[in-house]
Parts: sequence; C-alpha cells; structure tokens
Amino acid sequence: MPRRRPAAVRASVTGRAGHGAELVRGLSGAASEAVARLEARAFGAGAVGQAFSTWMRSVQGPARRMRFSDDYCGLDECCRPHLAARDLLESAALRLPARAAGELRDLLKPYDEIFESRSLADPGAPASAWWWRRRFVP
Ligand SMILES: [Zn+2]
Repeated sequence: MPRRRPAAVRASVTGRAGHGAELVRGLSGAASEAVARLEARAFGAGAVGQAFSTWMRSVQGPARRMRFSDDYCGLDECCRPHLAARDLLESAALRLPARAAGELRDLLKPYDEIFESRSLADPGAPASAWWWRRRFVP
C-alpha cells in the first residue's frame, strides 16, 4: 500500500483539512493514520501531535520550565505541561497497534533520554509512578 502524506491521512480520517491539528513528525503514513484514529476516539484531533511537540520542546527548553514550583495549582496541564504531555504519549503508545506504538516510542526515545539526562531521581516519588514522574529537574 502506498504511503500517503500524514496531512492527507488526517484529512481522510477526521474529515477535516490538515490545518490546525498537529502531527507527530517522522511517523509513517500508516502509523499517522492509527494515531489519528486513536485521537478521534480518545484524545481529540491533534492531541498526540501536540503532546509530542510539548514534550520535545520542554526537554530541550529552559530547565526552569520543567522545575516544580511552590505555587503548583494541582493541575499538571497548567503547571507541569511536560509531564501531562508525556502521560498522554504513554497512554497513546499503550493503546496504539504494536507497529504504530513502536514507531511512536522510537521517536520519543531521544527526547526521553534528554529528559533523563537533565533530571534526577526523586526518592520520594511513588515506585508505581511512570519513570518521568519519579524524576525532577534541579
Ligand atoms: Zn497551574
């Protein structure tokens, strides 16, 4: 099956033109299609792409934006957007078909490694939490 451009895939899955919704750059057409289908039923159009770019930009951006602040309002989406984004990406990877999930994880890997290298283990975090929630940025 020929690969279609991700924007064309999204337009065909959501019935909308490609503008607006963010895509995960680097995914194959088939994986983009799987992501778009998952977004449509679970997260909303473009949510995975948006989370990917939030995670990518955050781990490469200034450390202060990833630091925990004392005036945390309780909403990760507001005060810890990088963690909320990584949660959504994990949730997507767990729900995608294996091949698409593998592609997404491959694309996440370099950014996960950057975060890991810029953060320290938080011994107080619950062991059951995802690894990025068991670390803090000094
Ligand atoms: Zn807040």
